[in-house]
Amino acid sequence: MTARTLVAIAGFLICSSAVSAQGGQQQPLGFPGPAPMASSSLPTGRVSYRTLNEINNELERLAKANPDRVKRFELPHKSVLGQSVYGLEITHNVNASSGKPVFVMTGVHHAREWPTAELTMEWIYDLLKNDGSDPRFTAMLEKVRFIAVPVVNVDGYEMSRSMLIEQKRRNCRVEAGKFPTFAECGNPANRATGVDLNRNYGVFWGGSGANVNPAGDSHRGAAPFSEPEIQNMRELLASNQVVVALSNHTPDAKVLRVPSANEEPVPADVVPYDSLAQLLGGDLKWAAGPWPKIYYTASGTMEEQAYYSAGTLAFTFENAPNQPGTWRFHPPYSFVIDQYFGTGAYPGSSSRAGYIRLIEAAADPRLHSVLEVKAPAGATLTIHKSEVLETSPLLKSDAAADSTRDAAIKFTQELTSSLVVPKGADHVTWHVNPSMRPSQHGTEFIREAWTVTCSTSGRTQSVDIVIARGETKPVDLSRCR
Ligand SMILES: [Zn+2]
Repeated sequence: MTARTLVAIAGFLICSSAVSAQGGQQQPLGFPGPAPMASSSLPTGRVSYRTLNEINNELERLAKANPDRVKRFELPHKSVLGQSVYGLEITHNVNASSGKPVFVMTGVHHAREWPTAELTMEWIYDLLKNDGSDPRFTAMLEKVRFIAVPVVNVDGYEMSRSMLIEQKRRNCRVEAGKFPTFAECGNPANRATGVDLNRNYGVFWGGSGANVNPAGDSHRGAAPFSEPEIQNMRELLASNQVVVALSNHTPDAKVLRVPSANEEPVPADVVPYDSLAQLLGGDLKWAAGPWPKIYYTASGTMEEQAYYSAGTLAFTFENAPNQPGTWRFHPPYSFVIDQYFGTGAYPGSSSRAGYIRLIEAAADPRLHSVLEVKAPAGATLTIHKSEVLETSPLLKSDAAADSTRDAAIKFTQELTSSLVVPKGADHVTWHVNPSMRPSQHGTEFIREAWTVTCSTSGRTQSVDIVIARGETKPVDLSRCR
């Protein structure tokens, strides 16, 4: 990190604490927790939950202050209320093409789970502050492209964080296919509406642990990917080589991996996947494993989409557990700090330790696949696969028996990502997901290939490569000139 970026970060931190002091404490009255603090040990020193506006401003300022390491992007679809959704890419030389493996972290699929935005934001600052001074952190940003979307459900977060509908979980969809106003979403009469965004992903959509009834707390939506907020996530996962993904939630003290629904098989590469889950369980001192075994069932979740489409090792953290009543999903801020570091109320249970484990797992080539591509400088390389995925056999109603299900819906998923071979180079190391896709029907892989294409000045050359997790293979595209 340069002296200039340090000054930029320091300048921002002063600003940010001024904002939080003005915004006041979010300590709920009568909560039997510690008294409000003046500043904290978090990377930003924050002591209160951010508003959506504060988060969006910080993402913009971080990108401006760190142009070599941070790039802000807007996701392709506006929310149901027409709001922009932003994310950050963070790595050394962020504007250069590279074949680095990608780690995606999200917060706030569920509106009232405020700590998940805080944990994601503080991890961003943590990475940037320690990069350049702590060799372990410097290696993370040298080897991995980290992508964060701190608030997936921007409308719902505003409804909950403003206390208009404090316990809102879902997005702002009031009626299928229609776009409501802010007032309609906030109308008390519409409290029992919205789509549960972590039930709206297409893979295994419409199965166990999701409500068909639009009034249900876990309503799956009118169709797979019906919600723009989840179209955003689908496209993000399909356009990057996301080898590891984490969806942050509160409040149930679990590390979750697929299967999340009863309809799923034991995953084909359960051994490396579960080994990582158990190490994370150790970092957090929580039970770790498949949802139906240690939690409840859920279909149409982010980890189902990521794992069955691309082989991404995808997880859910259920952070900041064991708080009473109204504050269950967003306890006083001191619990966010304790959860981040594994101190105070959560001795030895550190989300930060889990994030370090995950970003280092993303860097580990034994857990994904590597292509050693020979190609001319300046050429565009594209890796592509078209696959057919399925929902669950569809439950017809929340009360209907399993025997009356409708057939699963099949849908095509394109996976495409690309890079440009750097000037002066004739070779790129590209960290990718395995081409061998885990079956949705049994403990086995579907033998599929990546098509890797090189194109430069009107010439193209393609090869198909079948590659498994942990393998490295050469790809010769040197004739595309
Ligand atoms: Zn949640």
